[in-house]
Amino acid sequence: MNIVGIIEKKKQGLALSREEISFFVQGVCDGSIADYQTSAFLMAVCFVGMNDDETLWLTEAMRDSGDKIVFPHRDGDVYVDKHSTGGVGDSTTFVVLPAVAACGLKAPKMSGRGLGHTGGTIDKLAAIDGFRTELTPEEFERQVEEIGLAVVSQSAAIAKADKILYALRDVTATVDSIPLITSSIMSKKLAGGADVIVLDVKCGSGAFMKDADRAAELARALKRVGELAGKKVSPVVTDMNQPLDVYVGNSLEILGALCVLKGEKNDLYRVAKRLSSEIVFLGGKADSLKAAEELFDEVLSSGAALSKFRDMVIAQGGDPAFIDDERLLLRAKHEADVTSLRSGVVSSVDCAALGNALVDLGGGRRKKSDDIDLWVGYEMKVRLGDKVETGAPLVHLYYDGEYPEAVVANIRNAIRLK
Ligand code: URA
Repeated sequence: MNIVGIIEKKKQGLALSREEISFFVQGVCDGSIADYQTSAFLMAVCFVGMNDDETLWLTEAMRDSGDKIVFPHRDGDVYVDKHSTGGVGDSTTFVVLPAVAACGLKAPKMSGRGLGHTGGTIDKLAAIDGFRTELTPEEFERQVEEIGLAVVSQSAAIAKADKILYALRDVTATVDSIPLITSSIMSKKLAGGADVIVLDVKCGSGAFMKDADRAAELARALKRVGELAGKKVSPVVTDMNQPLDVYVGNSLEILGALCVLKGEKNDLYRVAKRLSSEIVFLGGKADSLKAAEELFDEVLSSGAALSKFRDMVIAQGGDPAFIDDERLLLRAKHEADVTSLRSGVVSSVDCAALGNALVDLGGGRRKKSDDIDLWVGYEMKVRLGDKVETGAPLVHLYYDGEYPEAVVANIRNAIRLK
């Protein structure tokens, strides 16, 4: 077997065997396949695609390229996971995890940092003083055993092949391929050891999948691979044509999640409820989706979910003072309204541009090594369909340093009025 022959076969649109795919993944990991050959392979997959078997074999080979987590499953414990394909103002993890843990499920979560215009859970948690996301595997497992939930940084030892492939995809315009996205996400999820996996497939101007057909195709591929690998998987396609929550920014998104944990009923609440009820139903804690939704509302209104969130903050070394005094999350030096220059109805939002506005404010990275400002961001003052008068606020901005003229102009352009 040789890599040139494998690339040639894929280029001609032929299906690869399990052995050829394993050979490729092995060669990527041990360095015997050069980056330019890997890139050529990835581009061939982008153009030609992969069938269901090939996608499953690629996912399994990537899963097996690193460590796998095995949870103890004492007393019939069910371990659950949720994953988002990436969005703006998406702090559902901080609502879903405490809620499902309060329903009696075990929710260990490995998360990443921001990617492009989309935010990352680990960056948001950095806004909580003292919060540790680097737990040892023993600490991670013990915490989940004791309080039912934990969020840690994605271990470098999980799905090692994905680290190499993702870095190359990012710089060779090969991110946007359904078999490649599927194998990237599912290799990590399968190695993560959960029994139930709910996938939030974002669709819209702020998502990798811009249209409903592509999002549905990705959802089907994720489900198929997960089920063939023996997991209970439910993909849920959700809207990303505007930031999910009104708060966008690292500390601000923690604030947004707290508002929902304390009873606010908004779009973030609705998506968190949808995802949580899928998890609770598949995890066997409710007999129907409707009963799972009721359970979700119960653990929110009783304060049980908020209490799980507090337990997690304390268990991971965080100072929980911000939970009762939310002003501790508002530490940007300056605030200002960005007002509308004309009247009209909000007809569309360039959600990726709004995600990039956060990056431009310093709240996201352009390069992997960039430091980020945890306190900058904005609160959306309008939603799609809202009527706006001239001079009314479009967003309330939190910034550090000079007044960000260019960002303000980009935000105004991103919120389109008719
Ligand atoms: N998230 C991932 O982990 N991988 C992708 O390819 C896209 C989104």
